[in-house]
Amino acid sequence: MKIEDKVLDLAKRRGFIWGPSPNIYDGGLRGFYDWGPLGKLLKNKVENVLRKGFSGFSFWEVECPTVMPQKVWEASGHLDSFVDYVTKCIKCGASHRVDHLIEDIDDFNEEKLSKLLIEKDIKCPSCNKGGFGSVEPVNLMMSTVVGIDEEVFLRPETATTTYLLFPELYRFFRTKMPFGVFQLGKAYRNEISPRQSVFRTREFTQMEAQLFLLKEHFNDYSENELPLMKFGSDKIEYIKLGESVEKKFMKKESYAFMNYVAYKLMLDMGFDKTKLRIRQHDPSELAFYAEDAWDIEINTERYGWMEICGVHDRQDYDLKRHAEFSKTKMEVQGEIPTILEIAFGLERSAYALLENSLVDDDKRDWLKFEPGMAPIDVAIFPLMKKDGMGDLAKELFSDLDKEFACIYDDSGSIGRRYRRMDEVGTSFCITVDHASLTDGDVTLREISSMNQVRVKVSELKNIFRELLSGDLKFEDLK
Ligand SMILES: [Zn+2]
Repeated sequence: MKIEDKVLDLAKRRGFIWGPSPNIYDGGLRGFYDWGPLGKLLKNKVENVLRKGFSGFSFWEVECPTVMPQKVWEASGHLDSFVDYVTKCIKCGASHRVDHLIEDIDDFNEEKLSKLLIEKDIKCPSCNKGGFGSVEPVNLMMSTVVGIDEEVFLRPETATTTYLLFPELYRFFRTKMPFGVFQLGKAYRNEISPRQSVFRTREFTQMEAQLFLLKEHFNDYSENELPLMKFGSDKIEYIKLGESVEKKFMKKESYAFMNYVAYKLMLDMGFDKTKLRIRQHDPSELAFYAEDAWDIEINTERYGWMEICGVHDRQDYDLKRHAEFSKTKMEVQGEIPTILEIAFGLERSAYALLENSLVDDDKRDWLKFEPGMAPIDVAIFPLMKKDGMGDLAKELFSDLDKEFACIYDDSGSIGRRYRRMDEVGTSFCITVDHASLTDGDVTLREISSMNQVRVKVSELKNIFRELLSGDLKFEDLK
């Protein structure tokens, strides 16, 4: 089996990702997935790293509703501009996104696209026979109704809902600029033909951070390097943050800083540096609100380079529009602030991490997570259930589970239990044996080296704190 097929097989078999959902009804709705128990644990770890990371850079967390009135999306521009161009096969009736049928379109216009389909004699990929009718823009927002007849929309991004809080936030931060805020939550996009499994879904979780600022804001990270790939170039150049403006990669120092924050969080999650790049958008690829955009991409086996995170310079577009449509003053200290945004996709991050972690080294298939990123930190086994070994192991489990993600397992041989844990990347296993009952020592095994060491039960908590934060290496345990 190829590595990318192994990942999907593992994800399904061991309870990471199931779907499309709801599977038992006609195989589910396309573009919706369930996260099983281990997948959810992994997603939680991703969430924790991002939350901790953003707070470390002084961003504060907020939470807004996922449903917003139409007027918000008129103001944000999503109602008019958040569209895909779609056409139907005249033979079989299948709908297709025009940008999936024709590569490298740089001008989106219904009539031009219709002509192009005919000129290039494009046939329907579903039936291989039909040509296409007219091209229509289809809005990607999902709508629903509140009350009796008020049409409202599910948010297509968390960002806009954060912007609406600007007047309150400005007061909260005691009128000091710049300030940063982030939001974790669901967003919805009615993808016409969802593909690429959890990379392109109709419901997904975002963590988006916004920096509101009035003037350029300097930072202390200028010595750090970013793997930048400029628009029009096909090579990655390692550029120091402090030189990114002067060398004409970034237009603003503060924007380079936001790219650094996003990249740093990717490294914190344990992504392999050699598989990351920050790629600038082609001007025709830019979202309607963006002045400049760079994506942090990871090289995946299955899908090639995929976006995990987008960093956008939204300038004063959003606050200006909301000021105009809501008749609320967004100007402070004589100016409308500009916004720099970091947008993470949580499902994408978790999937990419899973694929990146899979190691196939002849002896075994196992998941190699960075310390603290595995869905389960510690597995606790009694050698046998009898003679009090089961009781001691359960006691250990309930104590350690308060602080770490733990599992108790007493079925099958120790070897088999190790293999089950290797397959899902559990960092450490503890075995309670006969000797443990008298000397208070247990066997501690590390997944990556498969080495074992005897340690005191009373020291386990401290040991795990240090091992999982990366402060201690297993081989230094005596
Ligand atoms: Zn067709």
